[in-house]
Amino acid sequence: MLQKAAPSPRPAPVEGTRRAEPKIAILGAGMSGLCMGIQLKKAGFAHFALYEKADRVGGTWRDNIYPGVACDVPSHLYSFSFARNPDWSEAYSGGAEIQAYCERVTEEFGLAPYIQYGKQAIEANYRNGQWHIGFADGSRETADVLVSALGGLHHPSIPDFPGRDSFRGESFHSAQWRSDVSLKGKRIGVIGSAASAVQIVPEIAPDARALTVYQRTANWIFPRENFRYSRLSRWLFRRLPVLTLMKRVLLYLRAEVLLFPAFQEKSRAQEKFRKLALEHMEELVPNEALRRKLTPAYPVGCKRILFIDNYYESLQLPQVTLETDPIARITPEGIETQSGRKQALDVIVYATGFKPFDFLEAFSVRGAGGKNLAQHWKERVESHRTVAVAGFPNFYMLLGPNSGLGHNSVIVMIEAQVRYIVGCLQAMRASGLRWLVPKPEEEKAFNRSVRAGFRGSVWAGSCQSWYKKSNGENHTLWPWSTIRYRREMAKPNLNEYQSDRNQSWREAAE
Ligand code: NAP
Repeated sequence: MLQKAAPSPRPAPVEGTRRAEPKIAILGAGMSGLCMGIQLKKAGFAHFALYEKADRVGGTWRDNIYPGVACDVPSHLYSFSFARNPDWSEAYSGGAEIQAYCERVTEEFGLAPYIQYGKQAIEANYRNGQWHIGFADGSRETADVLVSALGGLHHPSIPDFPGRDSFRGESFHSAQWRSDVSLKGKRIGVIGSAASAVQIVPEIAPDARALTVYQRTANWIFPRENFRYSRLSRWLFRRLPVLTLMKRVLLYLRAEVLLFPAFQEKSRAQEKFRKLALEHMEELVPNEALRRKLTPAYPVGCKRILFIDNYYESLQLPQVTLETDPIARITPEGIETQSGRKQALDVIVYATGFKPFDFLEAFSVRGAGGKNLAQHWKERVESHRTVAVAGFPNFYMLLGPNSGLGHNSVIVMIEAQVRYIVGCLQAMRASGLRWLVPKPEEEKAFNRSVRAGFRGSVWAGSCQSWYKKSNGENHTLWPWSTIRYRREMAKPNLNEYQSDRNQSWREAAE
């Protein structure tokens, strides 16, 4: 049982409004889409639907089934504040347990009737004051409000190495795991050494005949110190729900107060975390040459910090090699590196990450006047308050630009965004407005301040990651604390928006 599972509220009558209730389309039923649906329901919005491309909820936790898949954010924090779970079995839950949590939340909050499966949105066009949505199955829907809950990390990025398609063995991406391919006794190459790779390697290394990890850049690694909750502690969490709240608050504050300050490049916290990571490595990796390979040459946090147990140990198994010579090509037999070393392989695992914001390649969004969002973002990815975009009326995004985190739970961000968007919809309902769209000058001012927020931070330097566009601009992370984000997003300020009260939707296109 989830704690505080609110009974499904009946939609509140929308008395006093000057128009019918808005019809709201939510694209995606991962954690952000589910949160949006639940809070809309709670706020008495009855006319909404979640359109999900797959046949189950869960998003990233449904798709990622690689061995060792888990969340490196503590379970009591990586869950909804309104659906705390006393039964987490481990401090850091595995993917299957989080997936089960998503499914349970869907049931307990009565969301199932609102979800339509097999609905992959391929286009959304704003015409005559409504969103017209087209799906891959040929069906179409209209909605007054469109909420993209598509997530940023599900379009696999597989580098185009020369000869990639010539490989005669099996190869697949970490997020498209082939459970039908047995890895036991095989010669395996894992390309990549970041968040997904460090979870996979300790799981598959012991049974591999040979495993080579191809590392392009070293990462800062900290122990996760995972543990199982005893039956007694779970019983206590169940009997005394305040304990799950206290646990959550402590975990949240630990990340905000202890870890976040390290993102200032010249800070004592940065020094402290650097020292901690090096000590951790020294303790577990006696070989100095290996330590040199594993030591990053950039500040802690510039790339995503990794929290993992057993990775360093697995790299030192006799059958495991850490290869830092860059990959030159893929051959029919395996991988050849630039110095000419050839490794014969049976399986290649691409733990090479995702293409954030590439969702717009498969999903075309056109706002007022036909403005194309992908084009609009070509030079610079900008949003208003991370959730809306000037020129795109009644369009909202969850986990959109500059709302990612490197130190705390993204669920905190999702909940703040959902509260803000529901606030916009409530304000529209209360004043009988048809649409809202950010004022371009407000959006510009917001983005100027976000860019300024990166000054002096670890992200301002030259290290590259999916956090940044190739021009070096960071369009994925929120540069400040989540405390600040929650404060800024507590209530929408309608002065930052235009609406049909003072404009026609055609003018909103300008
Ligand atoms: P990632 O962080 O983008 O890492 C990709 C890895 O592949 C890096 O080591 C990268 O090296 C390497 N790589 C990419 N292109 C390459 C090329 N052409 N040649 C050689 N190496 C190449 O991807 P990820 O590990 O899948 O993680 C993505 C994100 O998913 C994470 O940052 C996180 O937000 C999320 N995630 C979260 C968890 C969790 O526990 N919460 C777990 C897994 C993933 P470089 O560093 O040199 O680019």
